[in-house]
Amino acid sequence: MQKKILNSVKAAYHQFFSKEIISKDFISKNALEIIEKLQKHNFKAYIVGGAIRDILISLAPKDFDIVTNATPEEIRQLFKNSRIIGRRFRLVHIFFGRELIEVSTFRAKPEKIERLKNGVQKDNAFGTIEEDAERRDFTCNALYFDPIKNKIFDFYGGINDLETQQLKMIGDPKKRLAEDPVRAIRAIRFSAKLNFEIDFKLKQQIIKVLPELKKIPYSRIFDEVLKIFLTGHAEKSLNLFINFNLSDIFFPSLNTSSEEVNNFVLRGLKKTDDRIRIGKPINPGYLLAVFLWKDVNNLRNNFQKKSKYPITALNDAIEITLIKQNKVFPIQKRFITTMTEIWRLQPRFENLNKKRVFRLFSHPRFRAAYDFMLLRGEENEVDMKLVTWWTNFVEADDGGRKKITEQ
Ligand code: ATP
Ligand code: MG
Repeated sequence: MQKKILNSVKAAYHQFFSKEIISKDFISKNALEIIEKLQKHNFKAYIVGGAIRDILISLAPKDFDIVTNATPEEIRQLFKNSRIIGRRFRLVHIFFGRELIEVSTFRAKPEKIERLKNGVQKDNAFGTIEEDAERRDFTCNALYFDPIKNKIFDFYGGINDLETQQLKMIGDPKKRLAEDPVRAIRAIRFSAKLNFEIDFKLKQQIIKVLPELKKIPYSRIFDEVLKIFLTGHAEKSLNLFINFNLSDIFFPSLNTSSEEVNNFVLRGLKKTDDRIRIGKPINPGYLLAVFLWKDVNNLRNNFQKKSKYPITALNDAIEITLIKQNKVFPIQKRFITTMTEIWRLQPRFENLNKKRVFRLFSHPRFRAAYDFMLLRGEENEVDMKLVTWWTNFVEADDGGRKKITEQ
């Protein structure tokens, strides 16, 4: 399927766009509407980035980004349902019910923007389509599609790299990674998501730039790091994470030399993949709870051997693990809350007293904690009988649950 689409695209591409290149059926109606309107007002407008890349390799696009030569103010005037956002680089969000489409103006080269100093951004921060393409990260992310004229603009051989499954940086990898080290993380993420080989030269430079990631503002990097694990390809993601030693930088508890940790994490990640596949939401707190759990649990066992009370042992273990984590790569408070709740609820699954069972069941974090307990059960960390009991309980209806607790 993937090859078939690509071949037809390639054939059409070489025939000077005479055939239908990308069917409009693949494109969001709202994105089409925006492009039509912009073009009607004599602006250029294209779909760019992830959406075109994904459609060409038969993946469902996550969202549609549009670029145009209209300025944010001009876009804003054309669309009532829009809002200008961003300070460093202003762009426009257009809302259609639940769908949000980002429309940005062609960006100029970083050198040009740099010269503007930190004053108010002037229009010369905007550029041409060529300049916009040049500052994008990978060749496959710089494909521009005009759905009205049915034309793809491929400035850097992105279509060819999609076909040969190569992730290649636009320009000199050393320079582009120095400009923005987050691109190293993005390379790893796309390699996992697309199952692409990272270009050899790029790989060498990624290894060199990784220590720089420590200097990146937290808000920029946290999402990109998490996204590595939300590509739907758990095994590949974890392997890349391990091979590039990213655990040292981000999650010291993800001790990659420990098979025990890797197996547990991989199992948790595979469940995440299943959820992504069926369109269920992913709670980053749950994922982080999986990453750090083995550390928490080993510490807890040690403390218990030193005859601490089980609850104290668990709380102390959580505290130490989080201190260790926060020194390296702090986790946002809201995720910490989810993680600690999931961990602290674990011992409560051992108590089958009717009142306590229903109290646990009505806890807002019950489902996550229960899934986590199942994961521990697969490792024989939880008695199989207990796992079965809870599974029967969860799967029963109200009457059934009452009966189970009374047995
Ligand atoms: P996804 O499927 O994850 O959304 P995407 O390619 O759409 O993939 P985004 O993070 O949404 O990725 O970014 C949209 C586009 O913006 C990219 O395709 C790329 O062209 C450009 N881009 C994003 N981040 C960077 C960056 N750090 N450096 C250069 N270009 C970037
Ligand atoms: Mg995107």
